[in-house]
Amino acid sequence: MDDELGAAEKARRREAEEFGCYGLVGGAARQLRTHNWVRACEVTKQDGPFYCGRCYSDAIVRKCDEKVDHFAHEAPRTAAIGAKEGELHLACKRQICAELAAGSPDGSWEAERTIPANAKRGIREVRPDISGRLRNGRVAVEVQASALSITSILKRTLTYTQRRIPVLWVVPLHAELPDAQFRPRLYERYFQSIYFGRTYYWWPGLGASVMPVHYGIAKRHIPYAEWYEQGGEHIEVGGYEVDYKAIKRPVFGPLLKIDNHFAPHRRDAFTPENERKAVPECDLWFDHMEPWW
Ligand SMILES: [Zn+2]
Repeated sequence: MDDELGAAEKARRREAEEFGCYGLVGGAARQLRTHNWVRACEVTKQDGPFYCGRCYSDAIVRKCDEKVDHFAHEAPRTAAIGAKEGELHLACKRQICAELAAGSPDGSWEAERTIPANAKRGIREVRPDISGRLRNGRVAVEVQASALSITSILKRTLTYTQRRIPVLWVVPLHAELPDAQFRPRLYERYFQSIYFGRTYYWWPGLGASVMPVHYGIAKRHIPYAEWYEQGGEHIEVGGYEVDYKAIKRPVFGPLLKIDNHFAPHRRDAFTPENERKAVPECDLWFDHMEPWW
């Protein structure tokens, strides 16, 4: 039983890290109607809606036989191409690769080329999704399928850095990113840390271009509520706006061509606030635009 409890607790902590908020780990959330704190074991779905008292995202109560009652965050995410969509992922890599090759036919562009290990220098084998040459330098483009953990992203980035190959990480989507609030996943936030406040998205039709997106502040309206307690006391709450902590508003940059608008950039190490993974010193294929927000 202890093991089961431990596993449930671990699962909730994983959810919290992925979401970017630990506010529901303790098993309590706030009821939207009254803003009172309630525990998951004391309420049913009908008592909702609920929200997280720390990040203000919607929370849903989960009741299942095997698990402890708990609250979970709920927020829309990007339509990223998933780990199990291998064919779609491959098609997207090939499309970007073909467009880059069309733009610079002498760049020996290739999808999934194996760069062998260098045992003498202690460098591992690596297989970039797309690689080639631009302006006499090597470039690697990684088209992130959402299965990759941030530990793997970090390792791969460092392997490229050992070889002095600047890398561009791209998040492929099924369709154009809508101009609507969403909750970036852990790895999308990690790219935001690596690339100085932008994550590069690709969707069908963009060819060899990517859309840089900054995660701007999104607000939640906390509705006004008033009632009289049994003793006659008048209670008033809400009626104001708060900043969401994990939900963001996309701030779109100008569309950028992977070949023309990027250049090699050696970035310094950086430890972001509230993120488990620090960004090491590494070689990036980075847009040379001024910040536009
Ligand atoms: Zn939260």
